Amino acid sequence: MHRRVLACLVSWVLGLLAVLDNRLAAAGQGEIMLRARVTALTPEVPVRIHWRWGGEGLGGRPVVGELTAIAPDTPKAPKVQIEGAGEEAEADVANDEILNPAPTDRVIVEGKALNYHYLKLGTWSPAVPLSTFGRHRWQLILTVTLEPLKADRPLKDCELEVELSYAGRVIKQFKVAGPDGPTFGVVLPYGRLDKDGGPTPEFIQEAGSLRDYVERKVAALLAQPWSKVSGPRRFAIVTDCAGYGEGAGYGIRTTDRETMLAEYECLRLMGVNGTVSAPGFLMEMMRRGDSRALHFARAKFVHTIGYPIPTVKYADGRPPIVHPGDGCPFHPDNIKAIPKMVQEAVERVLADVRGLPFEEVYALTVDEIGTVFDAAPEGKAHQGCCPYCQEAFRAMIRADGRKLEDFGAPDWSDIRSTYGYWGRSYWDVKQEREKGLAEARNAMEGDLQKRLEEDAAKTPSAVKPEPDSDDDVVDELAPDEAKPKRDAAKELLAAHGKMQELVWNHRAGQVSPEGAKPRLSPEGWTLLGYYSCRFNNEAAAGLFEPLQKAFAAANERKRQAAPGSPEAKQPWIYSYALRGNTFLMGGHSLDFFDFYRYADNAFIYETSNRDARVWQWDSYLCDVGRSLRRFMGKRFGIYVKPHRGAPVQRSLTAAARGVRVIYYYTYGPEWAKGDTFGGNVDMLAKIGWTTRLLAQAEDVIYDADWAVPAQVAIVRPITAKFFSNSASWENGKWVYTALMHAHIPTDPLDEGLLLTEDLSRYKVIVISGDHLRRDVARKLRTWVETGGTLYTTGWGIARDESGRPLDDILLPVFGLQKKGEMELWGDVPRYGATALGAVRQTRKPPEGATITGKAPLQGSFTAVVGRQVLYPAGGTDVLATWGDGAAAVTRHRFGRGTAWMVGMYAGVEYAWETMCNRPFSDEKRSYIAAPVLEAGVLPVVDASVPMIEGVLLRNEKSGKLAAVLINWLFKVDQPITVHLRGTGAATKARSLALGQVFTLTTADGWATLTLPRMDEGDILLLE
Ligand SMILES: [Zn+2]
Repeated sequence: MHRRVLACLVSWVLGLLAVLDNRLAAAGQGEIMLRARVTALTPEVPVRIHWRWGGEGLGGRPVVGELTAIAPDTPKAPKVQIEGAGEEAEADVANDEILNPAPTDRVIVEGKALNYHYLKLGTWSPAVPLSTFGRHRWQLILTVTLEPLKADRPLKDCELEVELSYAGRVIKQFKVAGPDGPTFGVVLPYGRLDKDGGPTPEFIQEAGSLRDYVERKVAALLAQPWSKVSGPRRFAIVTDCAGYGEGAGYGIRTTDRETMLAEYECLRLMGVNGTVSAPGFLMEMMRRGDSRALHFARAKFVHTIGYPIPTVKYADGRPPIVHPGDGCPFHPDNIKAIPKMVQEAVERVLADVRGLPFEEVYALTVDEIGTVFDAAPEGKAHQGCCPYCQEAFRAMIRADGRKLEDFGAPDWSDIRSTYGYWGRSYWDVKQEREKGLAEARNAMEGDLQKRLEEDAAKTPSAVKPEPDSDDDVVDELAPDEAKPKRDAAKELLAAHGKMQELVWNHRAGQVSPEGAKPRLSPEGWTLLGYYSCRFNNEAAAGLFEPLQKAFAAANERKRQAAPGSPEAKQPWIYSYALRGNTFLMGGHSLDFFDFYRYADNAFIYETSNRDARVWQWDSYLCDVGRSLRRFMGKRFGIYVKPHRGAPVQRSLTAAARGVRVIYYYTYGPEWAKGDTFGGNVDMLAKIGWTTRLLAQAEDVIYDADWAVPAQVAIVRPITAKFFSNSASWENGKWVYTALMHAHIPTDPLDEGLLLTEDLSRYKVIVISGDHLRRDVARKLRTWVETGGTLYTTGWGIARDESGRPLDDILLPVFGLQKKGEMELWGDVPRYGATALGAVRQTRKPPEGATITGKAPLQGSFTAVVGRQVLYPAGGTDVLATWGDGAAAVTRHRFGRGTAWMVGMYAGVEYAWETMCNRPFSDEKRSYIAAPVLEAGVLPVVDASVPMIEGVLLRNEKSGKLAAVLINWLFKVDQPITVHLRGTGAATKARSLALGQVFTLTTADGWATLTLPRMDEGDILLLE
């Protein structure tokens, strides 16, 4: 008993002591300390040790510091006991002791406040606490560099040793190699510290060289079950990976090629087979035929010229520089210079990869492109006030067959762009203001002269020196005579101010004349607006036409070249402007169809929408890419931003639509670039999984087209884009989404394609928009007469490009006597890349706001946006009515075809539930999908879950089939039945995601299988 008490007491005391000991340690040296020394260096010279992090592409400004800048009277750093290195520690102490007055291990250069210690090989820097480098939530990758005292050649073969200690004990020592110069990456995993800032085993394990860190990423990817499966060879998969450089300098984070090669091993494991920013040594390895580098020869991304004309040059803090022709596509000097610039650009792209075995090169013209007129001193107003652009504008209108009468204008001089219709050119304004300034200057000089003469006539004593303003002097001298003098000075100041205003803001001085009124009819003015929007797009796009043609010609030469000739060996080259996904947001002045009638060999856009509820819209823009490929011969590529969500779905939906290159933007790596996914190993693994899916399917899906052509065309007319409201914009996207959920494949077309293409291949054309060109409306009328089904919603196809009602052409088609206007009580926010907003009620819905449908339409609900009352003629079916009995949806047989008019924004109404974070309504979907299905359109890949999208592909050469399944719900843990149409004689489906083979049961032209579950997506190979 006694002994047990004693033992307890002893253990309690010991425990207490241990706690105290720890506390003492924490209080005394509670922080981890870091010191460093150089252990190899050529030439062997004394060096200072600097560190930095951030900035240089990593975001923010760089934070910098130095381990070797020491205050003259700084006490010695706490002595550290190095286990198993007694002698060294002794040597250290010895060094410290002789520091004063004449140290032999360093050279000290005295500064004003600090002394700079150039340490010789093997000499430790003083130790500093980790907080020296700031506080970091996850980890810090510190860049350490050396500065030589004096070196006759660049530093090479460097090695840095880093030591971490805690509470007087060394916890880790590691070396960092710098073979190609004195830059080292040091990884400090702050996120692994315990709550008191002390080390954990994980901290000790993960602290180390950048290379160790990258090797850990490689190991994590190698541990993935798919790591032994080859990545894609046909799909080009690229990302950017830089940060290596020789020596030390901006953006250089390592000089160790092995570190960089480890990153490229990560890329290989992710399935990357092309490159964006590979270091020169990797290109050299490729030239030498090294397989590690050759792996990345599938495609290369480079830059080429942007708009091939001069633009206003903006510079921080200085006035922008402008010269004649800036931003003008039609200035004669610009037109003359373009061919040479374009030729040189093509040559540069080819020279860049000469001797390298790249298959394809994608050359970026402009990132996040905008209209060229933004680069003119007047901005978009340039179009209306530039004589060259005015002439080109009239030429475009005449070429479209327009006459002065269409505009109700007396003279062609009245026909010019509505952008800057009343504007004046920068050069005119400048000339005028310069003249004003010169006159004011002359007046002021005359005035001064007069004053001097007057002063000379007076006695000097009469002039009283006055330190204040001239005005006061003048007032005291001669109040009456002062007036004209004061005006001259003020005028000069004002003239100078106006000149300065113009220097800084070239758009100043463009004010509409008072009461200015165009001499056009109201319809003519609307029509002029329509052409102005087109001109803004087409003039900008047209500037890329020479480049597009030159690239196409180079590809044609390759196609024709004899095997083994230099042309045969050169890569395929494609020019592209990087498009934002503005088609899925609020739109863009450079249209997603018209732009490509002139510009670019490839259509490439970046995914960026962040709201999970609209990620599925990428299928729409990928379908646009498919149309551009099919109708205009464009190559289709996509930048998938994995950290913006849904990388699997976005990759698969693009792959199902003829994408040739996927750029996972942006890898970085995370230690060389900000806002990257390179440090997210789970994401790297997810991408690796996706590319393996593509790799296993690519023999079927790469050169594939849709096995069953779409029977539905979906059109968002450009004319509607020019004139319509947000409700119309958002409606278009959700109409597409509703059809997608009904598993109805669609071809996006524009008005141009409606005019030029044979529409007989379509059973249904869906028009999402209130305005449509008159000639297109006429063609649609004929198309309905011959058997087509026309569907529209949301004050659909109401007006033409002059703003005139299309009733004369379309009322008979829809079987209506007349249509009411759109009555709105909900405000629809335009989606802008971040969160999806909900419809806001602007007033109480009226009595008749509830819509009730009858078969094939289902259900009854209150519209949240608004309504349009329809007035059917005899023989027109009313399929849905408003609460007050008015017709809401009509169906009319016209000729051999049918026309549906839906008197509400059916797309936005369908989105209401998801806007409220509820599941989509099947009943509301029927207002969009049922009319299409009733026309005899059938789904092709019909999964039992609406949010699982499927595309059936047939290889153009082998005829083999595959179904790409995209799960926009991300995970479905219940059996999913998939019906497929057009699978021919296939009897089996091999699921690449599940690694299982399923037997197809066939009946009535449908093949059916049931998958037990689905993660983010799958590809079924049909056999
Ligand atoms: Zn111009």
